Formats: sequence, C-alpha cells, structure tokens
Amino acid sequence: MTDNVKMWTELGMDVENHDNLCQVLPTAVGDVFLSQENRPKAMDFWDMVISDVHGIRPAELIEAQKNGQKVFGTFCVYVPDEVIIAANGIVTGLCGGSQFWVPDGEKVLPKNTCPLVKASVGARLGRTCPFFRIADIYVGETTCDAKKKAYEILGEDVDMYVMNVPQMKRDIDIAHWKDEIATFSKKVEEVTGNEITPEKLGEAIHILNERRKAMARVYEARKSKVAPISGRDALLMTQIAFFDDPVRCTEMCNRLADELEERIENNNGVVDPKTTKRILITGTPMAVPNWKLHNIIETSGAIVVCEEMCTGTRYFEHLVDESGTTLDEQYMNIAKRYMKNNCACFTPNGGRIDDIIRLAKEYQVDGVIDCNLKFCCLYDTEKLPVKKALNEADIPVLDLETDYEDSDAEQLRTRIGAFIEMLNA
Ligand code: SF4
Ligand code: SF4
Repeated sequence: MTDNVKMWTELGMDVENHDNLCQVLPTAVGDVFLSQENRPKAMDFWDMVISDVHGIRPAELIEAQKNGQKVFGTFCVYVPDEVIIAANGIVTGLCGGSQFWVPDGEKVLPKNTCPLVKASVGARLGRTCPFFRIADIYVGETTCDAKKKAYEILGEDVDMYVMNVPQMKRDIDIAHWKDEIATFSKKVEEVTGNEITPEKLGEAIHILNERRKAMARVYEARKSKVAPISGRDALLMTQIAFFDDPVRCTEMCNRLADELEERIENNNGVVDPKTTKRILITGTPMAVPNWKLHNIIETSGAIVVCEEMCTGTRYFEHLVDESGTTLDEQYMNIAKRYMKNNCACFTPNGGRIDDIIRLAKEYQVDGVIDCNLKFCCLYDTEKLPVKKALNEADIPVLDLETDYEDSDAEQLRTRIGAFIEMLNA
C-alpha cells in the first residue's frame, strides 16, 4: 500500500479523498465476491486484481510508459483496440462505475446526466482514479449526447480524440466507419511514433480474436443448466478484461473456461438448478465497481446467466475476419465487425431485440431484466420494443431503472423478489 500511495502521489491524485474509496472497496469485494460459496478456483486471479485494482495494473501501465509505450483510455466498445495494439499502444477502459465519483462530475455536468458519464468525468476532474491520470490520451466516440458533451469538458483537461461513430448501419455508414478507423490509425501512429503495418495489424486482430474466443468459452459454459459460475463472477471477469493485458486476459479466461467445462461434466454448479431461476440482464453497461444489480438478483433466489450489454456479450461476440492482407482490407474487416454491435445509439436498432431473444433462448433463461441507468434516454426508450418482443416470445420481463446510489437497493430487492416469485409460480 505504501508503494501505491507513492505512485498515486506522483500521479497527482487527491490521495486523501481517494482513501475514502479505498476504505469501502474491500468491504464491497468481500460482500459481493468472497462471501459466495463453491466459486471456481480460477477466480483467484480476478480476486487478486480487484482487491488491488488501483495498484497492480496502474503500476504495470506506468512501467510500460517508462519503456516508451503509450496508454489510450477508452469509454466504449466501438473504439477498435486492434489499431492501438498494432502500434504497440496499450488500451485501458475508463468508464466510471461508482457513486464515489458522481459528485465531482456534477460540478460541471447537469444533474440529469447518466451516472456513468458523471462518474467518468468526476474520476478525472476529482483526480481520484489512477487510470484517468495515467492515460496519455483519451479516445471518445459520438455515441450518445451525454458522452459527446462530456468529451468537450474532458478535452479541456486532457488530450482527447473523438471518433465519429455512425448512427445507422447502411453500406455508406460502414464505409464511413472504415475511413474513420483509417483516420484514427494516423492519430495512433502520431501518438505512439510507431507505424501500423498489415503484419502488425494482422497480429493485433488475432490477439483480440483470441481474447473474444476465450471469453466466449466462459459464456458458453454459462449456457449450461449446471450453472458453473455466478453472474457476479462472470461480470467481474468481463469488467477486468477492459483493463487487462489482452494476452494475459485470454490465458486467464481459458483457464477459467477449462475449469467451468470440468464442473459441467461433474455436475458441480454454484446453485441448485432445480430451485434457482435463470436471468438474462439487458440494458446499459455496468462499469467496475457496479455490481449492484447482479448482487441483488443473486441474493434473491436467482442467477444471472447472461448480460446482453457492452460489459457482456457485445464485448466478445463476432470475430474480425483475419484474411485481410492490406491495411485497406483490414480496416474494412474491423469496421464490419464493430458495426455488428447493437448499441441503442443506432437507428433502427432491431438487431438488439433479435440478440435479446436469441440469447434468452441460448442461455435457457426463465426471465429477462431490462435495466437502464437513470437519465439514459436511449436505453430507456428501447424498453418498449424490447418488452413487446419479449411478450410476443412469451419470455417474462421486468423493467428497472437505477443509478449508482444504494438508496433504492431495498426497493429493487422487493421488485426483483416479486419477479422471481412470479417466475417460480
Ligand atoms: S452502450 Fe453504447 S455508448 Fe455505451 S459503451 Fe456500449 S456501445 Fe458504447
Ligand atoms: S448509459 Fe446511456 S446515457 Fe450513459 S453513456 Fe451509456 S448510452 Fe450514454
């Protein structure tokens, strides 16, 4: 911890205020993760990472910077990590998932901005997150209005590059996105001082495809009725993937998947499948350390078996075609893969509804919980068509809205409990 304090001080952090976060995090980790019974042994890696989340990985990033590498901070699964890795850059997620950062965000943003954006801005301006201090450059994207305006504010404090994500998925939009990726690659070359060649980009595409495949193996295991892993543990694995070295992440996810496959063979689940309802969660992403909904659901007689969200299936579904041999072909292959993601910022966005129905069937769920963060107009508006489609498919659904505060936890517990009781009946 002494070394961490030295590192945080050198990063220019508000160490005194940051201590308040450090004091509550171990209790939260203990309550949400360590209290679970019969967890997969391979979760020891993620337990270690989360118990020193502001120490271990930040120290690695600083070491890499000393060796000449540049760190790119990102906020969205549309930013193509392949391009950054091809230039020997490092990607780290920056989305804020704690109420702790919200008040500092509210100093410069309207209160009716979603908590994810407020927390992200607050983490930077309040100087209470090492990742926000370490990143050499932030990469934003034109997905929702809240983020676009927040990037203007962040841009006054830090080097900020914004990618113009299309809002539709016609061929001209995909072509535009390919050009946008090519333009971004020039910026990445400028920041890193390294040239992106077809060979290097091919390697980066392969590295990230391997990570996607490893994460997909873990999710594949969650389809089993044996339920070899809790939703909380799977969510933690996904959240940390945004920060971790991609090769190590692949190795750890494969190690976890090996154990889960063995558990399925031995019928060794974390819950009793006969009495535990299986839930798919859809909606806004859950940035670390937002474990609120999973924790309530899994301590109310159900298990989360799938997340249709960016901290879930959208992060690993669909591979980039690896057959491209020129940068032009590779940028197009990357563009096509990322445009298969179905964020609510797109119109029309029927693909997301198809995904929810497909995943509900693949993961053999008993019900769906559609939850958005307060003031996220995009996901809130999509609730109606989601509900209509689920009703037509005869899949029970519960609509929820929440934020990062604990004040609504009991109310959520009551509504979720009633939903699970209804599923049991
Ligand atoms: S929900 Fe949309 S804007 Fe948010 S991270 Fe996902 S793709 Fe990006
Ligand atoms: S949760 Fe909604 S409002 Fe918040 S950043 Fe994501 S898309 Fe934007």
